[in-house]
Formats: sequence, C-alpha cells, structure tokens
Amino acid sequence: MGKRSCFSSRFLLSIVFSLFLLGMTGPAVRAARIYRVQPGDTLYQIAHYHGLTPEELAKANQFSTTILLPGQTLVIPSVTLRADEQLYTVQAGDSLYRIGERFQADLSWLRSRNRLTADLIYPGQLLRVPRPKYVWNIPALMARHPGKVFLSGTAGGKRVALTFDDGPDPEYTPKILDLLGSLGVKATFFLKGNKIPGQEWVVTRIFREGHIVGNHSYNHPDLRKYSPEGIMREMETTTALVAKITGKEMTLVRPPYGEMTEAGLDRLVAAGYAMVNWSVDSLDWRLESAEAIINHTLPQIKPGAIILMHSASEGGRNMTPTVEATKRLIQALWEMGYEIVPLTDLLPVQAYKK
Ligand SMILES: [Zn+2]
Repeated sequence: MGKRSCFSSRFLLSIVFSLFLLGMTGPAVRAARIYRVQPGDTLYQIAHYHGLTPEELAKANQFSTTILLPGQTLVIPSVTLRADEQLYTVQAGDSLYRIGERFQADLSWLRSRNRLTADLIYPGQLLRVPRPKYVWNIPALMARHPGKVFLSGTAGGKRVALTFDDGPDPEYTPKILDLLGSLGVKATFFLKGNKIPGQEWVVTRIFREGHIVGNHSYNHPDLRKYSPEGIMREMETTTALVAKITGKEMTLVRPPYGEMTEAGLDRLVAAGYAMVNWSVDSLDWRLESAEAIINHTLPQIKPGAIILMHSASEGGRNMTPTVEATKRLIQALWEMGYEIVPLTDLLPVQAYKK
C-alpha cells in the first residue's frame, strides 16, 4: 500500500513536471533555448549555428572566457534581427557564394552581418540574409480579393476608360471638365483630399457633370510606409470630405503611385473599397507635349484599357499638354472604334456605397 502511494505520487510529480515542460515550450521560453556543449564544440561554432555572434552568446551566458566544457549547458538567446534582415537555415550543398546569389547579397555583407571569420558554413546553421525587396504583386492581390482589385476592364467590347488623378485643381480640372463636357465623354477623377478645401466647387462640378469621383488618399503619401490604420485614415478622411459635398461615399480607391501594403488593402476591401489602378500610363506628368503623350499612349490601347492621366499639376507645372492630349486622344480612340465609358461600365463595381 505504502509503496503504491509512493509510486503514484511520483507519477503525479512526473505529470506535473511534464506539464511544466510543456508550458516551457510556450513563447516565454521559445525566445531562449538551452544547448548542451558537445566535445569539440567552440563558442564560435555554437554561436553561428544559432544565428548569433560569439559576443551575443558570451554575453547571454555571462562568460568571461571562451573555454567550453563538454556537458556544460548554454543559454541560447533569441536572435535580434535588423529590419532589412531575415534568418536562413543553411542547407546541405549551400556555399556562402550560392546563398549570396540567391538573396542578392554581397559576400562582404554576409560576412560582416554574420560576423564570419571564414566562409565555412554548416548545414543547419542560421545565417542573416537580406530580407527580400518589397513586392507589390497585383495578380496575387486580384486572386486574393476577387472583384476588388483591377488594372483593366473586365467587361468585353471595344471600350476604354479615362481616369484623371491628383485633382481637384482650380485651373486644369475645370479645363478638362469643359473639354469632356463639350465632347460628351464621362471619366473618373481620383481626388486628393488635401486639395479639396477651398475647391469644393470643382468637386461639385465633377459630380454634377456625371463623372465618377474616386479616392486618391488625403496627403498623397507613399502608403507602402503606412500602417493599415494609417492607410484607412488617409482614405476615410477623403471619403468624408467628398461625402460632405456630394452626399455619396466613394468606394473606388487608387493609392498614390498605385501601391500600398497588402495589409492596408485587406483593410480597405473589408471596409467596402475596391482598388482601381490602370493598364495604360499616359506619362502626361512627365512628357512635354501633347504629341509625345499621344504617341506614347495610343500603341498601348486595347479593349478594356484604363488610361491614367492627371487633372492637377504637381508644383505648378503647366498641364496644357494634358488638356490638349485628352482632346486628341478621345478623337483618336473614336476613330479606332472605341467607346469611352465611365469605370463602372468597364468593371463590376459600384462607384458609391449608397
Ligand atoms: Zn497621384
């Protein structure tokens, strides 16, 4: 009886200990691990095997010496990475040169970031390698958000859409509106929130004259550097400003420079927005003449094309070439048999929430 209870309490103890160990695999201890020194190990090898510098390993273990004894236990701290680094586990057959090629890293970068004193590396070793460059993969985003991300029209037929970014501008936006009005063409204007105060009348004109208003952020920042919350704020501020004027909440967004972050896009789509970029960049913000803009744009036109132009100038640039090019482009498109339609005729989207 006595023996039995002794056994069961020991059994209980072992369960408690197992639970304790299980608990230790949680985040608190994943950060630091224990390593038992093997015969022949050196501090340099152990450190590099775990993606650490010998100094970091020595510091975590409060060593004053680099002599290790087999069986001795070491604390392996978690690796602190810089923003432009990630960890790579060395595979059998890898060489430092090959890893450098794969991650587009100089050998000197790899040596210095990993504090390597020789180019010898071991399978299983953790190496700091450059984090891959940011990739804005529109086809992948389209697959992830069906019906919410567009570069060109999805409806059939010889139809194209004109889109004008960066307005409202008190000079050039009205000139483009006059032109479109005289030709009976409807377009889409992606507006910048910070240009609206004082120019509400231009927004009213765009809307009343039957064009679509879309959202081009508030400050026109590089949204790739913004948090999802920051991206939402940029768009929601402009949506609210336009809603005050038109009574409509915009659903079409075009991020400045056509890019943001995947997390930001996820948030916008969840909030009911759809992103519409372009398939044809007229380069009107850069080219010096209407002729150059036309010559650059026309060869790229296909059914469903979404053409990017601008209705406001950055830094007081003369945009007469854009106005002139718009006129000639419309004529040329008509001669080619194209119909020029608003974005909502080209895409399965609504321009406004209600
Ligand atoms: Zn822009």
